[in-house]
Amino acid sequence: MRRFALRSFLALLLLQLGGCYPERPVYTDRFLAFGTLVDLTIVGATQQQAQAATKAVEEDFLRMHEAWHAWNPGPLGQTNEQLAVGRQFPAPPMILPLVEVGQSLSARSRHLFNPAVGHLIDAWGFHNDDPEGHRPPPEALIQELIRNNPRMSDIKVEGINLQSSNPSVKLDFGAFGKGYGIDLAVTHLKELGIENAILNAGGDLRAFGSRNGIPWNIAIRRPDGAGVIATIKVSGDESVFTSGDYERFFSWNGKRYHHIIDPRTGYPAEGTRSVTVIHPDSTTADAAATALFIAGPDMWHEIARDMGIEFVMLIDSKGIIHMTPEMQERLELLDTDRKTILSPPLTGTRGS
Ligand code: ADP
Ligand code: MG
Repeated sequence: MRRFALRSFLALLLLQLGGCYPERPVYTDRFLAFGTLVDLTIVGATQQQAQAATKAVEEDFLRMHEAWHAWNPGPLGQTNEQLAVGRQFPAPPMILPLVEVGQSLSARSRHLFNPAVGHLIDAWGFHNDDPEGHRPPPEALIQELIRNNPRMSDIKVEGINLQSSNPSVKLDFGAFGKGYGIDLAVTHLKELGIENAILNAGGDLRAFGSRNGIPWNIAIRRPDGAGVIATIKVSGDESVFTSGDYERFFSWNGKRYHHIIDPRTGYPAEGTRSVTVIHPDSTTADAAATALFIAGPDMWHEIARDMGIEFVMLIDSKGIIHMTPEMQERLELLDTDRKTILSPPLTGTRGS
């Protein structure tokens, strides 16, 4: 009997040392949210637990989509009406935290990430389900919208009350709502007892735990066409976000106009094709990918430092890769013939 117990103990030990756990169940689901397909993969939970968690997260996304929709009526629309008239009003509960976190991230990005530029996004026609067929807004309108200089800091937050001192402020959560939503959904998944999952919304994702003890392998899309430019291994709890000029755009007179607007010029940001960042939380990762896209090849490094981002890869309009040494260590680059410029490291420089 004793010998049998010893033998089974040794067998268990070997199994653990060898890392060959029995395969844990993998549960996947796909649904539509924020206009993109969301893939949720849960590992190691019972089917019942995974199904309940998936349903909960799907409902979360539906609520967020309604609350933060930039042009359908709802809490964001009501908020924008009140901000425009300059009255003090109690913020809807789904809006207040995004205003606060948006203010902080906007300041840290030197207002390159600026969710107060809703009128500018409107003018470009990206407040629309299908931007194709649009043309650039008149130059005079762009100049007027720039002069009005809407900033997140124009909104005064007092308890749950908001008031804008600038009637041109119009909130648009397009650049970080998805990230904020993924963070909320991940918190919910964890509360429901899920220990390993990846929540991927059209290539932007947060992954926690692992896939049967092996890190998740994330593919980064090539900005100039189909295929994969690099892969990144993620484990623990991290977010990988990419902003690219290929996501939403229209063409007019042979020129492409994409949806990431430089608040300094009022025009789509130039010089960048895509930016990928890795960061623990998705809200910061999403806002930073947008901000660094606008900052471009010359300025991304200082903005990344101010926003506390260590892992950055930027592909400029000539196809050259700019990245931090921290990112280089994490990446498996498939396009090895591309020119790559390494920046000074960013670890430990935060706030300096
Ligand atoms: P995506 O998630 O589509 O890849 P982003 O996260 O970069 O792209 O967000 C782009 C969206 O953010 C635009 O569609 C628009 O709604 C909004 N936006 C565009 N320019 C800015 C800006 N400078 N600051 C904040 N939001 C912006
Ligand atoms: Mg973004």
